[in-house]
Amino acid sequence: MSFELLSSKFEELYQQPADAISIAPGRVNLIGEHTDYSDGFVLPCALEYATRVLYRPRADDKIVVHSMSYPGEKDEFSVSGDIAKGDSQWGNYIRGMAFVFKRAGFTLKGVDLLIESDVPQGCGLSSSAALEVAIGGVFNTIAELGLSAQRIALLGQECENDFMDIKCGIMDQLISAEGEKSHALLIDCENLKTEAISIPEDLSIVIVNSNYKRKLVGSEYNNRRIDCEQAASKMGIKVLRSATMAMLADAKPQLSENEYKRAHHVITENARVIAATVALKNNDMDALRELMTGSHVSLRDDFEVTVPATDGLVNICQAALGERGAVRMTGGGFGGAIVCLCRADDVDAIKTAVEEQYYAQFNLTADIYVCKAGHGLTVQALATA
Ligand code: ADP
Ligand code: MG
Repeated sequence: MSFELLSSKFEELYQQPADAISIAPGRVNLIGEHTDYSDGFVLPCALEYATRVLYRPRADDKIVVHSMSYPGEKDEFSVSGDIAKGDSQWGNYIRGMAFVFKRAGFTLKGVDLLIESDVPQGCGLSSSAALEVAIGGVFNTIAELGLSAQRIALLGQECENDFMDIKCGIMDQLISAEGEKSHALLIDCENLKTEAISIPEDLSIVIVNSNYKRKLVGSEYNNRRIDCEQAASKMGIKVLRSATMAMLADAKPQLSENEYKRAHHVITENARVIAATVALKNNDMDALRELMTGSHVSLRDDFEVTVPATDGLVNICQAALGERGAVRMTGGGFGGAIVCLCRADDVDAIKTAVEEQYYAQFNLTADIYVCKAGHGLTVQALATA
């Protein structure tokens, strides 16, 4: 949607023009899946798909919010009292952000908000983190809190963990807050240090959403976390970040089969992330393919978060690309999307193969997004006429 149209929508809803805009992107993870909550390594990039929040401070203590994605539905609450969940499912993300800001001791102010986004929802590109970080950017700016991008990301994660009850790690919010154009970010989730890794210009990022309906994601996700925590505790360490293959072999008799497999994934995946960082720097497609294939197989067999539809999409795309591309599932799994790295000339091969084979095999239609790495959170004042 054009900026002009969005601005006029804001004025129509609130009878005054917006003051400023906060923009935070969705993300795709290139490699390093289910490692963040074990304090491991991840290598995501922010996308050019982003969530925009137009806003204008109010004179009272109310937060009023509309979203272009949910026309006719608004949420409204006061920042003075206790903040609890409301009737609007998506409104709860804004309430959750207000809740964690208040809990951290920050004073909030009333504001009118209008959300618009081209991050597809619920397919693993983290529209929820984009929304949390964009709202965090608004609260930080209007209350002049001077928070770092990292702090805003941590507050976004708290909102997801403690208000929305999804025990995700820090990756999604951190990449949305700190992403850099044309770069992936190697994140060390132990200390949140980042290193920007330039994505070679001739490399295309293609995301293929399986459109497989995810089921029981929350409980399965939380079960994986428990397996990882149990495995670490039986190995005598706090988190799997510090585990080695030798420690895993020693602890094998004490571990359940699942605990062993989950830990095996995390240890090998961390090593693959570091190797993939080098491969990306060298634009080494052979190495990227080997590492991304290794990641997918590990997520399928050890971590058990793939489904036939995402395994099938990976097979279809890898066969279409051959040695010219690297493919794996991306995001939390149980459906969602896969990611392919390839040269621009080969994007059509993916499109054709998916069109010809995916529906025939799985009775589902996939959505394909050809992406570039975009910038992280930005908050900008708008020129008033
Ligand atoms: P993902 O983060 O993978 O896209 P989630 O289920 O975690 O999927 O988050 C999707 C939820 O985030 C939506 O159900 C909605 O509540 C909220 N959300 C995302 N984008 C928007 C938007 N543009 N407007 C309102 N709510 C949104
Ligand atoms: Mg999400």
